Amino acid sequence: MLQVITSIEDIKQRIKAFKENQLSIGFIPTMGALHEGHLSLVRQARKENDKVVVSIFVNPLQFGINEDFTQYPRAFDNDCKLLSKEGVDIVFNPKAPEIYPNGFCTSVIMEHLEDKLCGKSRPGHFRGVATIVLKLLNLINPDIAYFGQKDFQQTVVIKRVVADLNLDVNIKVLPTIRNKEGLALSSRNAYLSETEKKDALCLYKALIRAQTMVNAGTKNTKEITAEMEKIINNSKSAKIDYISIVNPETLEAVPEVQHGDVAALAVRIGKTRLIDNIILFFLIAVMWINLNVQEIQSCSGSANFSSHRM
Ligand code: AMP
Repeated sequence: MLQVITSIEDIKQRIKAFKENQLSIGFIPTMGALHEGHLSLVRQARKENDKVVVSIFVNPLQFGINEDFTQYPRAFDNDCKLLSKEGVDIVFNPKAPEIYPNGFCTSVIMEHLEDKLCGKSRPGHFRGVATIVLKLLNLINPDIAYFGQKDFQQTVVIKRVVADLNLDVNIKVLPTIRNKEGLALSSRNAYLSETEKKDALCLYKALIRAQTMVNAGTKNTKEITAEMEKIINNSKSAKIDYISIVNPETLEAVPEVQHGDVAALAVRIGKTRLIDNIILFFLIAVMWINLNVQEIQSCSGSANFSSHRM
């Protein structure tokens, strides 16, 4: 049965009991207003762990002064219904003062990563993300923590923090879940009107165009991003924040695409800022990988191979 926990003391006790019984823990940090994207992470965690913990916390530290902290969709009762159906064990839903009591002044700073891509227009955002995720990982102490590729820069930041601070947790990144037209699911899609939802498809179209150009042999990233820009600018309500093709670990923009680089963008549709990305692949590399997997499978009977560079 789903148990809602709001205090740090209680979550520590429950986690201690799981650990004493040698139960593995899968953890999914979220800000709630859950959709199929979040649930895909929950389902994977359910398959791979004895216990599944989901946190729902709209983290004030990751919102800028003029951002949407107060309007951010909150749907706690419905979220609990969804999580209960998925067989989640614990929802950790603390209030802000529990997480950031008076006097709180410590945060995680990541040189070179937090000022790139989304960091440019959202200063302080990734410090806020890294700080809350580090706190939650310390409290929940999971074996595996699950994140969505949808928030690509977040996954890079978290992996960096885990590696740099020697945290004992396995980070898994799962694919972006989209609606049938290609729009990446996001709690912020709730802000979009029906017309804006149609306009918002330009993000996915631009990403697909990038992959199509790579398939046709274009490697020059300026040429690719120029084409992506044209597609976005065709949508009336769209205003580009950035379009960039980057190395998946350093987030540095690359002049020529390599297999596994990431095309990432942020676009305002009306007042709503949306992000999306795609891992660019070279068909030839994928074919080579598949051939090798088949070879390994025919030798060993099974194989687990990922073409993801991160
Ligand atoms: P959020 O509640 O927006 O902070 O997201 C919580 C987690 O769900 C993050 O790891 C997100 O990357 C992930 N997530 C959000 N949207 C999607 C999506 N469309 N597909 C896959 N994962 C997602």
